[in-house]
Amino acid sequence: MISVEEALERILAEIKPLAITQVPLSQSLGLVLAQDIIAQEDIPPFANSAMDGFALLSQDSKPRNGTPPRLRISGSVAAGYMADHAVEAGTAMRIMTGAPVPPGADAVIQVELTRSDGPESEWVEILQAVTPGNNIRPAGEDMRRGQTVLLHGTEIRAWEIGILATLGWATVPVTRRPRVAILGTGDEVIDVDEPLQPGKIRNSNSYLLEAAVKQAGGEAVRLGVARDTVESLREKFSEAIKYDLILTSGGVSVGDFDLVKDIMQEQGKINFWRINMRPGKPVAFGYISGVPLLGLPGNPVSSAVTFELFGRPVLRKMMGHARLTRPQIDVIVEDGVQDRAMRRHYVRAHVEWRDNHFIARTTGNQGSNIMTSLLNANALIIVPEGGVTVAPGETAKAIMLDRPEI
Ligand code: AMP
Ligand code: MG
Repeated sequence: MISVEEALERILAEIKPLAITQVPLSQSLGLVLAQDIIAQEDIPPFANSAMDGFALLSQDSKPRNGTPPRLRISGSVAAGYMADHAVEAGTAMRIMTGAPVPPGADAVIQVELTRSDGPESEWVEILQAVTPGNNIRPAGEDMRRGQTVLLHGTEIRAWEIGILATLGWATVPVTRRPRVAILGTGDEVIDVDEPLQPGKIRNSNSYLLEAAVKQAGGEAVRLGVARDTVESLREKFSEAIKYDLILTSGGVSVGDFDLVKDIMQEQGKINFWRINMRPGKPVAFGYISGVPLLGLPGNPVSSAVTFELFGRPVLRKMMGHARLTRPQIDVIVEDGVQDRAMRRHYVRAHVEWRDNHFIARTTGNQGSNIMTSLLNANALIIVPEGGVTVAPGETAKAIMLDRPEI
């Protein structure tokens, strides 16, 4: 049995980022940049006004004998247009936010600091002296031509999309999303829309994993449920090997019908199949026909937690992410963890910020079949191997699955 750290290391050592592809900008959300993004022009591309007001020569704005200077309005320039003449001494030009600063002007004064005779006025009085550059956004103030603005490996979120649009990237080089085959196993497992029959349970794992794969950025395809026979598994795997990754649940333990390992042996290879952790000891990793296979446990909580700890980092590595795992923080475990698991224990918990501390409360019965222990959980408290008890009020490390409640 290997440790969680060794298991993750052995898995990730085998996983490479997938191919680079070009996607339309609006479809790049959540993907990872496959190259550095270098500005090809200054942003903003031209000096422009930060305010609605008047473009003028700053030296014309100083009061004379205590009275505001009056300037002749020579014209107007709107956003999207170039001025057709320059601003000369003693004159000003109406200017709108975002409009290019006309030649001659070295400052803009906002309309609120002026007085005039309305929209048709031919004069404007300047009520406050301004310095050169006032309210002018110089070319290249935000990004300079040649500057590296985004790094290879950056996850594209809404704000990165805004930057890419600004720089004119209509299509974006990204690492493609992994396509993941999801396979349930077990004679007892029926689909969600079938009526329950004696001895049967519904296939929750495949649906949970499909959603978890999508949340991690992958594309998921459910291939149904294999019966507990070698023939049925072979048939399902012949389809599954068309994908980038195969995720199975169940059938990797030591029972008579736990046949996933047998097929891995027959058609590929097993790297390991047990991890010193709870929930989720039986986790197999290896290949079938050259396609990586992560065999997750059948118990729903085990399969959810082991996907989180191993499946998600695999998908993130395939997608080119720089950061593969979630952040860990120190939490005070308000109710403690009493049961002494000899294996590393990942305890589902709800973490909130209270009295200047992150306070964790466990989500009740932590059995690997108790799906309700996943409800309301935004963290996994890590209890080290060796039968460690966390007394109420003691501190432990926790993996944050979601933001703490603040
Ligand atoms: P196994 O590892 O195949 O022995 O399965 C362990 C436990 O998980 C058993 O109680 C199974 O009934 C249950 N189980 C297996 N597959 C699923 C599934 N797809 N959805 C829900 N429970 C499952
Ligand atoms: Mg089974």
